[in-house]
Amino acid sequence: MIEPPPDDDDGTLPRASSVALPKRPDSRQKVLNILHKPFTAWLILCCGLLATLFAWKLSTDYLHQQIEQRFNTHVDEITTAIEERMLVYEQLLWGGVALFNASDEVNRAEWHIYISSLRIDRYWQGIQGMGFSVPVGQSERTAHIAALRAEGFPDYAIHPAGERNEYSAIIFLEPFDWRNRKAFGYDMWSKKLRRQAMQRARDTGKAATSGPVDLVQETDLNIQKGFLTYVPVYQNGITPTTQQQRRELLVGWVFAPFRTGDLMQGILGKRDAEVEFQIFDGATQTNPHKLFDSGIDEPQQAGNIIGSPLHAQRELKLQGRNWTLQFESRNTPISALEQNQPSFIAAGGLLVDLLLFYIIVSLARAHAIQKTLSNELRDAKAHLEQKVKHRTLALNQQRLRLEERVAERTAQLREKVDESEALVNTLTDNNENLRQFSYVASHDLKEPLRMVVSFTELLARKYADKLDDTGREYIKIAADSGIRMQTMIDDLLQYTRLDDNSERIKKVNCNVELDHVLQDYKDAIGHHHIDIIHGDLPAIRCNPSRFLTVIKNLIGNGIKYGNTEGITTIRIATEEKNDAWIFSVADNGIGIEEKFQQRIFEPFKRLHSHNEYAGTGLGLAICKKIVITWGGKIWLDSQPGVGSTFYFSVPKRLAVQPRSEPAVAAMA
Ligand code: ADP
Repeated sequence: MIEPPPDDDDGTLPRASSVALPKRPDSRQKVLNILHKPFTAWLILCCGLLATLFAWKLSTDYLHQQIEQRFNTHVDEITTAIEERMLVYEQLLWGGVALFNASDEVNRAEWHIYISSLRIDRYWQGIQGMGFSVPVGQSERTAHIAALRAEGFPDYAIHPAGERNEYSAIIFLEPFDWRNRKAFGYDMWSKKLRRQAMQRARDTGKAATSGPVDLVQETDLNIQKGFLTYVPVYQNGITPTTQQQRRELLVGWVFAPFRTGDLMQGILGKRDAEVEFQIFDGATQTNPHKLFDSGIDEPQQAGNIIGSPLHAQRELKLQGRNWTLQFESRNTPISALEQNQPSFIAAGGLLVDLLLFYIIVSLARAHAIQKTLSNELRDAKAHLEQKVKHRTLALNQQRLRLEERVAERTAQLREKVDESEALVNTLTDNNENLRQFSYVASHDLKEPLRMVVSFTELLARKYADKLDDTGREYIKIAADSGIRMQTMIDDLLQYTRLDDNSERIKKVNCNVELDHVLQDYKDAIGHHHIDIIHGDLPAIRCNPSRFLTVIKNLIGNGIKYGNTEGITTIRIATEEKNDAWIFSVADNGIGIEEKFQQRIFEPFKRLHSHNEYAGTGLGLAICKKIVITWGGKIWLDSQPGVGSTFYFSVPKRLAVQPRSEPAVAAMA
């Protein structure tokens, strides 16, 4: 019996594939859940924008710092360059002093050689020249002029002209070109700013630089402010220790006039692209004190990201004079790439923020879709499981009902089988009794019957002339009846013997068996104009004598119940069909009505009186019994007045022991 499935009537759904119990989200899941909310996307976008703004601000501040730092460094570099160059110039002047100290007397030619050797025009751009000026007292003035004129300068005069208590005169100024010749004999002592520097140099024994002056060498072209630096030359080649001695022992001043514009170009090279600067003498930053202006009034170039220009101020102490350097940034001293760094950071940050926002929004959307889908899936699954459960329940109930019915039917069948078995047993017993009875009766009947027939024939032969016609007729009837009875007993014996299955199965050449039959019916065929038509029959496996019995009975019936008006034609044929041979015996005789077609296979069943057609009614019953024992079938196709065709099949794989005909069939 089929085991019923596990009962799930407890109402729970199947576990394995059913809806999982909701799990408590772990921390990772919690984070993911938060990430999957649209609010998180906006929050992260806001935070990201704030962070980007902050980064942009930091970057901008850092850039400004960088710019300021570079600007200040540049400013320091310029300041240092100016300071160092001025010290170098001072050294040059001290070189001139050294020449005086080293010589008893320095004449014009020597000064010329010395200055030429310095090659100031080549190496020291900005310095107008190097000269030597001497103090000239009022009393010495005439002699001084005379001496100079005697040197070959007949037009020599101290200028500017005028009567003054003290004079100074430039006697050497190299290179002695047209520009410097304008200063030849110039009384610098007469000019306040120059005089102050000269006095300071004389009194301190150190180098001294003047305030801003208009050099006498200036022309109308490219007018620049200038200044002069003086170093004192004392007698005896030493610097006296007291101021009084210095004043007394002063020989003159080695000096250098500077055009500030040329000087700055000499120091700094071509115009600086990054800064503009002004140099003021002292702390007062007004025009009269302005020594140099690199072009600060020019408009700024575009692209300064810091908006307003940067400013710086430096103080320089040069040969006793304070200079104020005022710087202003001109261009941003950084590359375009660096300038754009904050913009790049802002743009990059914005891009990342938007991307992050987009990703989180997409994730949230995908999560929402997934959630909806999984909910739908879960509902569908639950619905399906519910349906499956109901269906299973219904099927179980149906199956139980079926099982009950099967059990009921089985019980009924068992009863029937038991009844049938009992009946079969009874019938078998009856059949066996009947068979034994027939056998014994037939044998026991045969002997007296043979005596009756023999003596009746003897009576007819020896006493025929002593009897009248009626007597002879009676004796003939008695003899015929005896012979018919003998035939019936023979057929009956044959029928009962069919239960004996001892005859063996072997290969049978059906053509040979057919020849035997035709030989037996030779006389009948000759007398009644009968045509027998047949082809080549196959060799089959069966019992040869039984095959002969079947084919002989069928052909015999064909002859007996043949055409009453013309020639009887009998056709014997075979057909191979799957696993059996189909034999057919067809005649064009009297035929059989349909209602009798099944009954004629019953023993003793006849459709005609003995007077019409002789016979026992056992021929077809014998045929049927034999064919059934082979496992085959026998049937017919007939039409009254047209003819009959009898068919029988012989299985190709015939059982070695033919089957017994079922007792019920035998009795049918
Ligand atoms: P019988 O000895 O009477 O021929 P069978 O068993 O051979 O006994 O036949 C039973 C009956 O079937 C016959 O009496 C006959 O009426 C009918 N029958 C058999 N063969 C044919 C046939 N070929 N044509 C017409 N009727 C037939």
